[in-house]
Amino acid sequence: MQNLLHNLNPEQLAAVTLPAQSALILAGAGSGKTRVLTTRIAWLIQTGQVSPAGILAVTFTNKAAKEMLTRLSAMLPINTRGMWIGTFHGLCNRLLRTHYRDAALPQTFQILDSQDQLSAIKRLLKAFNIDDEKFPAKTVMYFINNAKDAGLRANQVEAYDANERKLVELYELYDDQCQREGVVDFAELLLRSYELLSRNQPLREHYQQRFKHILVDEFQDTNDLQYKWLKLLSGQGQSNGSSALFAVGDDDQSIYAFRGANVGNMRAFEQEFNVKNLIKLEQNYRSHGHILDAANMLIANNSKRLGKNLRTDAGHGEPVRIYEASSDLQEAQWIIEESKSLIADGALRSEIAVLYRSNAQSRVIEHALFSAGIPYTVYGGLRYFQRAEVKHAIAYLQLMDNPHNDSAFLRVVNFPTRGIGVRSIEQLQGAAQQYGVSLYAAVPHMTGKAGSALAGFVRLVEGMRFETQQMALPELVRVVLEGSTLLSHYATEKEGADRVENLEQMVSAATQFISEEGYGQGAPAHMGPRSDAQSGMPIVSADGVEILDADAPLATVMSPLSAFLSHASLEAGDNQASAGQDALQMMTVHSAKGLEFDNVFITGLEEGLFPHESSSKEEGGVEEERRLMYVAITRARKRLYMCFSQTRMLHGQTRYNMKSRFFDELPEESLKWLSPKVQSHWSGTRKSAWDDVQVTSGADNALAQRIAQKAGGGSGWRIGESVSHGKFGEGVIVNIEGSGSNCRAQINFGSFGMKVLDLSVAKLERL
Ligand code: ATP
Ligand code: MG
Repeated sequence: MQNLLHNLNPEQLAAVTLPAQSALILAGAGSGKTRVLTTRIAWLIQTGQVSPAGILAVTFTNKAAKEMLTRLSAMLPINTRGMWIGTFHGLCNRLLRTHYRDAALPQTFQILDSQDQLSAIKRLLKAFNIDDEKFPAKTVMYFINNAKDAGLRANQVEAYDANERKLVELYELYDDQCQREGVVDFAELLLRSYELLSRNQPLREHYQQRFKHILVDEFQDTNDLQYKWLKLLSGQGQSNGSSALFAVGDDDQSIYAFRGANVGNMRAFEQEFNVKNLIKLEQNYRSHGHILDAANMLIANNSKRLGKNLRTDAGHGEPVRIYEASSDLQEAQWIIEESKSLIADGALRSEIAVLYRSNAQSRVIEHALFSAGIPYTVYGGLRYFQRAEVKHAIAYLQLMDNPHNDSAFLRVVNFPTRGIGVRSIEQLQGAAQQYGVSLYAAVPHMTGKAGSALAGFVRLVEGMRFETQQMALPELVRVVLEGSTLLSHYATEKEGADRVENLEQMVSAATQFISEEGYGQGAPAHMGPRSDAQSGMPIVSADGVEILDADAPLATVMSPLSAFLSHASLEAGDNQASAGQDALQMMTVHSAKGLEFDNVFITGLEEGLFPHESSSKEEGGVEEERRLMYVAITRARKRLYMCFSQTRMLHGQTRYNMKSRFFDELPEESLKWLSPKVQSHWSGTRKSAWDDVQVTSGADNALAQRIAQKAGGGSGWRIGESVSHGKFGEGVIVNIEGSGSNCRAQINFGSFGMKVLDLSVAKLERL
């Protein structure tokens, strides 16, 4: 048996071995909070204080949950299946799947991601003829989710004016629609399982007794409902004792206020749980000195802080490198060049992370990586399961699992086209409304041409369902891809090759899913209604009430197909083309939370982008952006790169940006500027323009040299040279990129500003 406790510092040791009472570990980034939490689980089990089934741990992402399980299996020779480790959504899903009857849900309920939710709301607004100028779908969605996050049903929301009354009414109608269709949105997963536990006493007591220890990572980002959920599950305030709630968090990393997260929960927790054990960890084990100094100095600009410090023994390490690009293309190119030299020096690609504030930024970088042949993985953003063709396939699968899912029905009833027009759909919707049934169920009420076309669609779905009854999931997926004619449809499309490939990949995704989730290969993908005897789960009796315990693997409580569909909704972010390969990691700063990498690039550090323009409108908005920046900086172990660009194409427009204010909040002595530190006023004369180029020393000279070489080599033009242009007049070349006929120069034309010109086309004269 390993000694779990060596390699912990005294504070960490104290935290890991606390008695079974509520505790709060409040500490900065990289101080070992997650490590302490994981080690505590192992320690509790190893010392026999609790069995694996007595543990519930909440992590922030699926990735983090997986990592925790991997680490636990490495520390302990136990089967980790009995433990409940996952995200709030994942755990609630499991609870609702097992107790679907008590939760008044169909066994095959499906999960709406936010995109699905928005289209469901749009559909609702249309059905009730709501003026979408007055009630935009997004506003309605926001309203509903806010209410749910606060734990409120429509009849509990107080409306103060006609506008709000309407929103409340829409909330109610929306819930009816979801219930009818057997679908559940993300916020509903939580609210529904909260209600389930609070209304069902035997069930609640069962789980309260089962989970002796509840551990929560990233506690600063819990919202009100999540906190209430934890309180309920831990049996807080109950006479017969409660489970020990062990929370770890960092107020400086609270970055989900926009989704209702409430840092105040840390204080509330301290008081309501009568927390006597408050431990601070101040030693940072992750980052080198310069990186940590940058993080500390930046976050010191925030006012509302609980106050903690971080120190490291790691030494200063390399300075933070900062690069100013002329365009987003050049920024991407720089990232590629730097990454290549890191890789050449032996870095693993998976130890290089490129972070951005907004998903829209990723495309240019992805493209550059692709062109350079560097494998990469994207978390979030262009998610595999959110791509149109994949969603179409998923919709067919959903219909086979639950034909009453109207969203899925509408998505594919006429895709690929089968002559079912808008009019027919409207009639069908009318019939569905009239009889109070789903669209699928309303089909028999339709007559005429529309009726027979729709009946044909129903036959298609039923036919596939029949055909695949005894099939294993991957085989089923293949049959549906073909039977739905999605594959042949995209195969004939001009640029459909990628889409076909994405669809094909779903078969591999299903195969991988089956093996990871422990479903026998031969298990038929759908199940009939499950009888309790079939489930094989322990039935616990409290007060004579029969209770099924929701335990891993999900295989026993839901069919592989249902499980796969939940997985597609819940883990939309975790899959990419190059998964499994050593790949460079691309993600938003939000999704980087809790992770660490040897080398980190923070890109697009421009006013309006990071800090994001929306933040200036909200109170505390800039402080939240600063915390986000703090999260970004503290992801890096050894090397940190920051970059920004003078121009950027975003949402089809070229934007001219100022560099981020955050640069002014970093310690100058920890920074190294790699590129011309362009001043706000260019003098325009040859000499001063060249003087402004601060070429850095030492290792970073490599880049300056590369630029210089490029400049001297291919084009015949040189950085710093003065030129004249027919339209823009005199200017100075500040940078040259590309080579041969692709050579472009960035030229400062004084009053005409900075221009990027194609050297093979632009008519330039030497001065
Ligand atoms: P974040 O706030 O970013 O989530 P954290 O506080 O959860 O960070 P961890 O991820 O647990 O920090 O730890 C940061 C790194 O430091 C990890 O690589 C971890 O293994 C390492 N580490 C933590 N404690 C120690 C220790 N006592 N000795 C050596 N390494 C440690
Ligand atoms: Mg952590």
